[in-house]
Formats: sequence, structure tokens, C-alpha cells
Amino acid sequence: MTYRILVTGSRGWRDPAAIRMDLDAEIQRAWDLARRPVVVHGACNPRDPVTGQMIPWAHAERLPPAAQLELAGADWLADRLARQLEPAVTTEPHAADWGRFGRAAGYRRNATMVARGAAACLAFLLPCTAPDCPGRDRPHDSHGAAHCAALAARAGIPVRHRRPAPVKESRHGLHAPGRHRGTISDLGASRRADRRDGSRPR
Ligand SMILES: [Zn+2]
Repeated sequence: MTYRILVTGSRGWRDPAAIRMDLDAEIQRAWDLARRPVVVHGACNPRDPVTGQMIPWAHAERLPPAAQLELAGADWLADRLARQLEPAVTTEPHAADWGRFGRAAGYRRNATMVARGAAACLAFLLPCTAPDCPGRDRPHDSHGAAHCAALAARAGIPVRHRRPAPVKESRHGLHAPGRHRGTISDLGASRRADRRDGSRPR
């Protein structure tokens, strides 16, 4: 039996450690229940962390493993981290069909993912920065990920919401708090030994 972990998140999400922490916890839960973890995500193309430019998935896959984890995007990062645990953990990407459904494609895709069911939903949310957003005077989460998390919650799937820590002021001026740099959890340590490429995650 499988244990489906639905991951959703903003395209600009840049903290793989936060995703790793939450994924590891859910994967551990799956093992505890003697179920096989499946990481379900929307296969949104990653972004260049500096320019924000979209990088085609197939192109990003050819980058060295360390460089892959430097790219932005919750779907992308969750996929890369889950694939480090293949074949014990599998991934199930659901790319949106933008050509067929236009702007509604992402929402349709979210509905499909939720309808297939999940044991848990992990949502990695950044503030909406869409220049044409009608609600921009009020801070809110980016739309696609917020939509998916809300659908999951409505379907009775437990949702864990993650947002970046607020920017703190220091003597040296404004700075964002450092990313989590904790060690990789022990989870899956034995399984990582039989990873295909043998590379170490950062
Ligand atoms: Zn908005």
C-alpha cells in the first residue's frame, strides 16, 4: 500500500532544507505504517534563483546535483530530494497542460492531484508577487499553491503550511535569517546508500 505525500509550493521557494525536513518526517511516517511513500507534485518548472527566469525541467535535470538544489521551486526541490531515495520512494509528477487549458491548467491539475487522495499535504508558501493580482494591497500566499493547499484541506487531507521566517533586523541592517543547515536526518540513510548516482545531497 502506498502513502501519498502531496507537495505544493511557490515557484520562488528556495529552501531545500525546509522541504527535506518535512518530506523526511512524512516518509518516516510511511515506513512506520509499512506503506510505500509516493511524492506527488505539480512538476512546475524550476526558476533561476537570481533572475527568476523559468528553466525547463529537462534542462535542469542535466545540471550537477548540487546545482539542481540551488534552483528555486517547491515542486522541483521536492522532486530532486525524493529522487535521492529512489527506488524506495517514488515520485508522481502532474504537469499542468497549459497549452490545452491556459491559465486554468494549474488549478485543474491541483484538483486532479487532490482527487487522487493523499495521506498528507506539504505546502511551501511565499507571498504573492503577481503584478496583475487584484488583491495585491493585502498580503497573501501565491495563488497556485494556496489553491492546492485549500483544496487538500477541504478534501480532509492534513495540510502542513510552511512559510519563510520573517526578515529580522540586525545591527548590520536587514537580512534574512540563514537557511536551515542542519544535518540530513537519519531517515533513509541506509536507503541513500543504494542511490543511483552516489552523490551526496548538500
Ligand atoms: Zn495575488
